[in-house]
Amino acid sequence: MGRLGVCLGALLLILVGTPARSAQDLPIFETHLHYSENSWNSYSPEAILAILDKAGVMRALVSSTPDDGTLKLHTKAPTRIVPILRPYRTRQDMATWYQDPAVLAYVEERLKKGIYKGIGEFHLSGGQTGTPVIRRLVELAVQKNLILHAHSDDRAVEELFALNPNVKILWAHAGMSAGPDVVGKLLDRYQNLWVELALRTDVAPGGSPDPAWRALFLRHPDRFMIGTDTWVPSRWEALPGYLDEARAWLRQLPRDVAEQIAFKNATRLFAP
Ligand SMILES: [Zn+2]
Repeated sequence: MGRLGVCLGALLLILVGTPARSAQDLPIFETHLHYSENSWNSYSPEAILAILDKAGVMRALVSSTPDDGTLKLHTKAPTRIVPILRPYRTRQDMATWYQDPAVLAYVEERLKKGIYKGIGEFHLSGGQTGTPVIRRLVELAVQKNLILHAHSDDRAVEELFALNPNVKILWAHAGMSAGPDVVGKLLDRYQNLWVELALRTDVAPGGSPDPAWRALFLRHPDRFMIGTDTWVPSRWEALPGYLDEARAWLRQLPRDVAEQIAFKNATRLFAP
């Protein structure tokens, strides 16, 4: 044995110990998961929770089409799963929900369960926010302190805040195509806007934070969160890998900023 044995032992410890330590070292509060009908046959709720373990996910926002998927997970892990009510009874609602009174009635009824922390993730574009359904939705969100998880362009975000400046919005995918200039402008303007980065590979191309995004993370460290988006079943299996990629670029930020984005901002916003 001697020194060689000690060195080999240390090397083995590093190799074996790294994945578990990296997840514990930077736990993730995942803010964009769906357990929709398309995943139910492939993954039981227990299998999903095992994936969350493997991926180092401490808590997670889950919304599903239909909502029963969210309830299945929430029943198994009520403190870990944060239910967000999706206003889609089926996928067919996606295109028309914002002007469908039947969807509003469904949402109001479902909210009586009292378990939801938000409404979404919904798809809503600028010019679609002036309907009675959306006005009432915003009113409900403010009354019940529910966060709107909006897959929207910047114009729709501005329109929602114009309906009520006290509404809280979690902006899905950072607007999907909005650059750091547009995202920064809205964060400067709206104190109740938070941003999650699902599918935004442009924030860290090649594994390092893009300079403009990095500057924005440092300017607004209390507003960003990590999300992945499991809209198809295959993304569940890939979730641990996606979150390790996120950890890799987060670690290149100052430690306190990385922790805020990884889990502290979401923990504060979605306090149990
Ligand atoms: Zn989504």
